[in-house]
Amino acid sequence: MAALLYLKLAILTAAFRCGQATRLYTEEDPVVILTSDNLKQTLLNSSTAWLLQFYSSWCGHCIQYSPTWKALAGDVKDWSQAIRIGVLDCAHEKNFDICKEFFKMISVGLWLTGADRELQTVRQLMVNFLQNHTRQDWPASCPPLEPARTEDILSLMGQKSEHYTAVIIEDGDSYVGREVILDLMPYQGVVVKRALNSEKLLMEKLGISTVPTAYLFHPNGTHAVMEVQKRLRFFYSSFLKLLPGVHRKQATSVQQPAQIANKGQGSNEVWKEFDKSKVYMVDLESGLHYLLRVELATHKTLEGEELKTFKDFVTVVAKLFPGRQSVVKLLETLLEWLVSLPLEKIPYDAILDLADNKMRISGLYLSEHVQWVGCQGSSVALRGYPCSLWTLFHVLTVQAASRPDALANTALEDDPLAVLQTMRRYIGTFFGCRECGKHFEEMAQESISQVKSLDEAVLWLWRRHNQVNARLAGSMSEDPMFPKTQWPTPDLCPTCHEEREGLHVWNEDMVLVFLKQHYGAANISPKYISDSRPRPGPPAPNEAIAATPSNLHIQGPKPSADGAPKHQKQTDLDGAGDGGSGVQKDPRLGVSFLGFSSLDMSLCVLLYAFSCVFLMLMFFFFRVRSKRWKIKSHRPYV
Ligand SMILES: Cc1cc2nc3c(=O)[nH]c(=O)nc-3n(C[C@H](O)[C@H](O)[C@H](O)COP(=O)(O)OP(=O)(O)OC[C@H]3O[C@@H](n4cnc5c(N)ncnc54)[C@H](O)[C@@H]3O)c2cc1C
Repeated sequence: MAALLYLKLAILTAAFRCGQATRLYTEEDPVVILTSDNLKQTLLNSSTAWLLQFYSSWCGHCIQYSPTWKALAGDVKDWSQAIRIGVLDCAHEKNFDICKEFFKMISVGLWLTGADRELQTVRQLMVNFLQNHTRQDWPASCPPLEPARTEDILSLMGQKSEHYTAVIIEDGDSYVGREVILDLMPYQGVVVKRALNSEKLLMEKLGISTVPTAYLFHPNGTHAVMEVQKRLRFFYSSFLKLLPGVHRKQATSVQQPAQIANKGQGSNEVWKEFDKSKVYMVDLESGLHYLLRVELATHKTLEGEELKTFKDFVTVVAKLFPGRQSVVKLLETLLEWLVSLPLEKIPYDAILDLADNKMRISGLYLSEHVQWVGCQGSSVALRGYPCSLWTLFHVLTVQAASRPDALANTALEDDPLAVLQTMRRYIGTFFGCRECGKHFEEMAQESISQVKSLDEAVLWLWRRHNQVNARLAGSMSEDPMFPKTQWPTPDLCPTCHEEREGLHVWNEDMVLVFLKQHYGAANISPKYISDSRPRPGPPAPNEAIAATPSNLHIQGPKPSADGAPKHQKQTDLDGAGDGGSGVQKDPRLGVSFLGFSSLDMSLCVLLYAFSCVFLMLMFFFFRVRSKRWKIKSHRPYV
């Protein structure tokens, strides 16, 4: 049987008298919820140690303690091959007997009170418990936690290996080394050891004078001190998880529909070098293409709430997308059509015609070529579209916070929740991954109403995204080359991270500053953007009658001379569509002089030439006529 450490909270005995229980823990939490049906079977068949909390769902202490327990379980999620965290509700009628039985059977129990129940103390208790296990009960996958010997470490010098070896050199009573060893358990490509600063020879040979210090032996035989911004567990663990070639061992959970959606796209793509501190316009445009031309295509017609959701979504994107003019113009045109159409029902094909610019309006274009750069995955089934959608929404929340007037006159202004609520409704109605939509809706119901400002909206989305990352870490939807971490990692934003009483905490003021910079227009790189759009040509014969999508047999608002709707001209003049310095200006947009496109200009020249020739012909015609007339009038009468 697995070794078991259990924790009784105060008032446990009173729990047996209680009636109906409310749920303190749900499947969303990183704890294993046990009941009388599965407790024995789970523990007896387990190869890991367990830390179980026997609690009573009605008791005030238990309720107050549950956030700490959940935080602890999230904090040590990566230790699950060595020790797992579970809960059992003794206030639940069906668990009465099993609770009594366990208390009689198990001798190692802890009654934790006061500071003993704090997260860091319990985590250190777990480390001690694992380290002091007898060899016989040692969880099979748990790595050694004892300090390594000096000669074993020195023998690594100059040795080539298939993996990195990190050695944390620390004080005897420090927990950093052991915690980093356990954090890296599910990763391959790196082995972590610890050594003590009492080993003078080791300190001398490695040239170390302060502790804790981490020393890294590279697979090619070289070695050096590991450079991290802060000598803390979280910084060491993050650094090691992000080393090239280090990735999470593959898990075996079910594949999500969102990943299936990426299959078949971009296969045989060449790997594109990218900078993870940048956002790529090509990801955003590819995401918009997928959203408009693929995801939406599953809805043959849009009506009622769906149509309203889509209109609001297009409004938000058209007004806030810091992209190229050709894309913004296309979104604005789409918005203009949607807003002014007197229809209750719109066929999807009409939207597709607009996205494809079947009307051949000059300067409107959204590439059909899918290219992922910051969102490329190690296989075609990973990352891609869902990554671009997250990116798009972060960009939009940041844009809304930086340009609070952007949504003026759209009925969405003055609402700090406008972007989040629109995103929420889009995800719930159209996002191809239904399960993801369900999870997202649960998160939104829980906390979205607490958002009171545009800055809080930016932070809310960041928090929820990290919540999803924590839930998906180690699942099959995780790309081994891009492990799901709590983002931004310390290398991207060292000031975002702090440690308080042994627990990693975010400095949210710094996170906000970072998010605004990272997702701001100036940080969006135009690299890899292709400009292979078709040049605007004359309308095809069946499209010449009216500049309206071929599937909509009504005439919408006519585009103005340059093909753009009225409010688009405003956007162009403000430069809002340029999206700041990070975004390329469109060299072939066709708007050249006083708003006339190159096609308009060519037609003018042609007309001019034609008029000249016509005038000259008229001139010669009248000259000849007048000569004849003169000859006639001067002929002498005979
Ligand atoms: C709304 C939504 C809900 C989803 N729910 C699920 C689900 O329930 N189950 C499931 O299997 N998949 C779900 N997905 C897909 C999943 O979240 C990932 O998008 C997908 O697995 C691809 O992951 P990725 O490695 O590309 O990183 P992503 O999580 O897609 O992140 C994209 C990029 O955003 C940045 N980033 C990461 N974290 C943050 C953060 N906290 N704040 C700001 N930026 C960040 C990073 O640069 C990262 O590369 C959901 C996607 C969306 C858009």
